[in-house]
Amino acid sequence: MLRRTKIVATLGPATTEEDSIRDIIAAGTDVVRLNFSHGNAEEHIARARAVRRIARSEGRTVAILADLQGPKLRIARFREGKVNLAAGDQFTLDTTWPKDAGTETCVGLDYEHLTQDVEPGDILLLDDGRIELAVQQVEGTSIACQVRLGGELSDNKGLNKRGGGLSAPALTDKDRRDLKTAVELDTDYVAVSFTRCREDIDQTRALLRECNSQAGVIAKIERAELVNDTDQLDKVIIASDAVMVARGDLGVEIGDAELVGVQKHIIGRARALNRVVITATQMMESMVTSPIPTRAEVSDVANAVLDYTDAVMLSAESAVGRYPKEAIEATARICVGAERQSSTHHSRHRINETMEKVDEAIALSAMYAANHLEDVRAIVCMTETGATPLMMSRIKSSLPIFAFSRHLATQARVTLYRGVQTVPFDSRTIPNEAINASVVLELERRGVIKAGDRVVITKGDYANAQGGTNTMKIVKAGSNIR
Ligand code: PGA
Ligand code: MN
Repeated sequence: MLRRTKIVATLGPATTEEDSIRDIIAAGTDVVRLNFSHGNAEEHIARARAVRRIARSEGRTVAILADLQGPKLRIARFREGKVNLAAGDQFTLDTTWPKDAGTETCVGLDYEHLTQDVEPGDILLLDDGRIELAVQQVEGTSIACQVRLGGELSDNKGLNKRGGGLSAPALTDKDRRDLKTAVELDTDYVAVSFTRCREDIDQTRALLRECNSQAGVIAKIERAELVNDTDQLDKVIIASDAVMVARGDLGVEIGDAELVGVQKHIIGRARALNRVVITATQMMESMVTSPIPTRAEVSDVANAVLDYTDAVMLSAESAVGRYPKEAIEATARICVGAERQSSTHHSRHRINETMEKVDEAIALSAMYAANHLEDVRAIVCMTETGATPLMMSRIKSSLPIFAFSRHLATQARVTLYRGVQTVPFDSRTIPNEAINASVVLELERRGVIKAGDRVVITKGDYANAQGGTNTMKIVKAGSNIR
């Protein structure tokens, strides 16, 4: 059975050598994430080149996602590299404190506006919530806190505020520089960390278009104030090509109790609004050091699949873990298992809505026909931009959707869509009346269908024209196809 849910794997020190990249691609990675919070431009470019080279040699399409660091706030460094804080201790954050001279009682900070964004009573979280501070007093450049949850605190750990409300803009100067690197390595997607509003996405898209990049833009949903504002959340989703449920920072800001419900809400809204959604962070966390996942992790991945996420993402598991290949294999196995559940095979998506566009009507009709007609084994769309397979893949189904396209950018983009398989295919060299037969031949060659199986095919009157899908045809393999 073809896996429908896609796997995004973050590259890092554990996945830099050609062999390890080859391993995770062979294990089923559909999209690699280059995390611009770590590493330098040369490292990212070298990894991207290796991915393209290996994918080509394996006959695979693997997309590249450049994840910008965004305004992740971090404390500066300690004189001794780390300190130990105990509950009840006094600890001060000071924006003028020397950056490499933190102590048991005070540490520096890069973000000078923090003093305006916090007030007594606020809870600050360090190191993904492992350390909790209660703000007691804000004076000049310093924020005096009492430690509520202690532990070891080391250099450059991240800082969040419970409930959100830190005002740093989403695109930093570093992000703008990294965006150029991302364009240089011909990225397929760019992810915007700590997205606040739709303008962050519009701005990123405009910057990409200025550099002649057609990359898709992904909004990372990881701010409390964004998920608390359902209108703005919808606007962000519509402005994006895909969204990421960035559970690491989001969970710290909104608290773990709310997280699962919010995950389901974001997945539901993204799909309802015809957008793609990735569920991310700590999905297989124990596999950083263990070759098998815990039951809780198995359940977490399976539940995201049942929620109908397009993709699940691995971070440390593939970037710095000891078992990147095993983590991808386990994720793939769990996805396929969850996809067998019949609740993921039927859809009522937009069934009561009117439609404005012909290609939309065709995409949805094709899916409902395929889901309800006997013997259909595959859906094929001839696509220029990937718009038709995107609309199709919003409809739950157990049948694979094959996106036939001659454009490299489209071939890469659809790798993130649930249930969609890329088929590089140039129909310009084939006479119009022979296209359906050659589509069927290609699926037979891939072992997807055999004589007697039906295939639903969509295309436009004018092959190779954008937005022109206006035709659906149902053909039977083994018969005379026109
Ligand atoms: P990060 O984003 O790994 O870049 O922080 C994902 C998350 O916050 O979950
Ligand atoms: Mn994050």
